Amino acid sequence: MPNIEHIKCHKCRNILLSDFASIYSSALCGDQKCSSYSTKNFAFLHEDNLPKWIRLKIEEERWTRGKLYCENCGCKVGTFDFVSGRKCECGNSVLPPVHFISSQVDVPITLNLFQSIK
Ligand SMILES: [Zn+2]
Ligand SMILES: [Zn+2]
Repeated sequence: MPNIEHIKCHKCRNILLSDFASIYSSALCGDQKCSSYSTKNFAFLHEDNLPKWIRLKIEEERWTRGKLYCENCGCKVGTFDFVSGRKCECGNSVLPPVHFISSQVDVPITLNLFQSIK
């Protein structure tokens, strides 16, 4: 039985995030079809509850921007950007600054459920 609260590196299965439920940012823009918020593309994180290894990375870059790599295999798993405040695809809202790239990680089953409920 896989633990559905974990986000893992797609390549090496290293656990990147152990308490997904407390950290997943369910922020959505007004347009539900906005592709920027599709969990097929990105898994956004709440900046208040970031795990230590991500927080350290961001502090290393002095809260500007950078990439997140799996600490185990070095694979790129996400990015962060506290500078530009990039807008979502439809331009209605500003994207959360930290996200995993969905194709690079194994997201919990519940993440897909969130999506299908909407
Ligand atoms: Zn890895
Ligand atoms: Zn949008």
